[in-house]
Amino acid sequence: MKGYAMLKIGESGWIEKEVPKCGPMDAICKPLAVAICTSDVHTLWEGAVGERHNLILGHECCAEITEVGSLVKDFKVGDRVLVPAITPDWNSLAAQAGYSMHSGGMLGGWKFSNFKDGVFSEFFHVNDADGNLALLPANIDVVNACMLSDMVPTGFHGVELADVQFGDSVLVVGIGPVGLMSVAAASMRGASRILAVGTRPNCIAAAKKYGADEFISYKNGTIEDQVLALTNGQGVDKIILAGGGNETFESAVKCLKPGGKIGNVNYLGSGDYVQIPRAEWGVGMGHKMINGGLMPGGRLRMEKLGSLVSSGRLDVSPLTTHVFDGWDHLEEALFLMRDKPADLIKPVVKLAD
Ligand SMILES: [Zn+2]
Repeated sequence: MKGYAMLKIGESGWIEKEVPKCGPMDAICKPLAVAICTSDVHTLWEGAVGERHNLILGHECCAEITEVGSLVKDFKVGDRVLVPAITPDWNSLAAQAGYSMHSGGMLGGWKFSNFKDGVFSEFFHVNDADGNLALLPANIDVVNACMLSDMVPTGFHGVELADVQFGDSVLVVGIGPVGLMSVAAASMRGASRILAVGTRPNCIAAAKKYGADEFISYKNGTIEDQVLALTNGQGVDKIILAGGGNETFESAVKCLKPGGKIGNVNYLGSGDYVQIPRAEWGVGMGHKMINGGLMPGGRLRMEKLGSLVSSGRLDVSPLTTHVFDGWDHLEEALFLMRDKPADLIKPVVKLAD
C-alpha cells in the first residue's frame, strides 16, 4: 500500500508499506477523507515528537472498515466509522484510573503518526476497535466527519478542563479550529460572556457564529491588560488555552479570578519551562487551577460528540475552508497547512463520498 510519510525531520513523501496486520481485537480501515492538522506540521518540520523515519503521517479521518479481528463484536467490514485521533488501550490501568489517553505512558493514547503509522495511507490499523471506533452517522458528510477526530474533541476538552459553568465569563486564547470548538463548547456549557484572542478575519467571523462576544488582539497590548480593562479589573472565571506559547500561562494567571480555572489544550512544542507569576497566583494560595490534558479518545466520546453534529446542535462546516479531491492533492494540502494562508482554517482531502 501507499502512505504519505515523514522520511525524517523536514522531509516527506509517498512510500510503499505492507498493509498492517489485524489482531483479534483490531480493525483495518481505509480513509474516506483525511484532514491535515497543525500537529502534522509540528511533527514533520519542527521535529516536535523527535526524529521519525518513514512514519506515515496523519491522525484525523473518517474511514470504512476493510477487516475486523475475530474478537470484534460491534463492527463489521463495510461499516463507515468515525476515528478518534487518540486510540487508548482500554484494558490498561491508566484507562481504569480514568486517564485512558495516557495508557502506555504519558500521552501514550496518541498512537497515529506518533509511534505508529497514521491515516495518510490506503489502509491503517486501529487497536481495540470496539473501544475506539464509532459508527459514522449517515447525515454527517465525510469532510465534516474529519472534524470529529481531533478538532471537536480537543476543543471541547479545553472547556471540560476549565470546568465552564452556567454564567461564567470565559476567555479563549487562540481561535484556530481547536479554539473555535472551545468557543462553541463554552457557549453550549452556558458561558455568559466569551472573550477570544485572535486576529484572522475568517476566524473572528467563525468565532462570532459560535458565540464569542468580544475580541482581543495581541497587537493591541498584553492579553491580561485587555481582559482586565474589559472586566473592570476583575478578570474572567475560566480560561481555555488553545493557542499562544509557554509565556501565555503568565498572562492567563494574571487575568483569571481567584478560584478560576485554566484548561490548556495547546501543544507546547518548545522551551523548557512554563512561568507562573507568583504574586498573581495568590503567592501560591489563589485557588487558580491550571489543568492541561490530551483529549480523551474512545467510542463513547465519539458517539456523543458525533450526535451533537448529527442532531444539528453543532455545525462544524465553518472549520473546513479548503477541500481537495484525491490522494494526489494530499501533499498540496499539507504544504498549505504549513504555509497557512490568511483564509485557511482547515484543509481536508476527500477520498470518497
Ligand atoms: Zn490533529
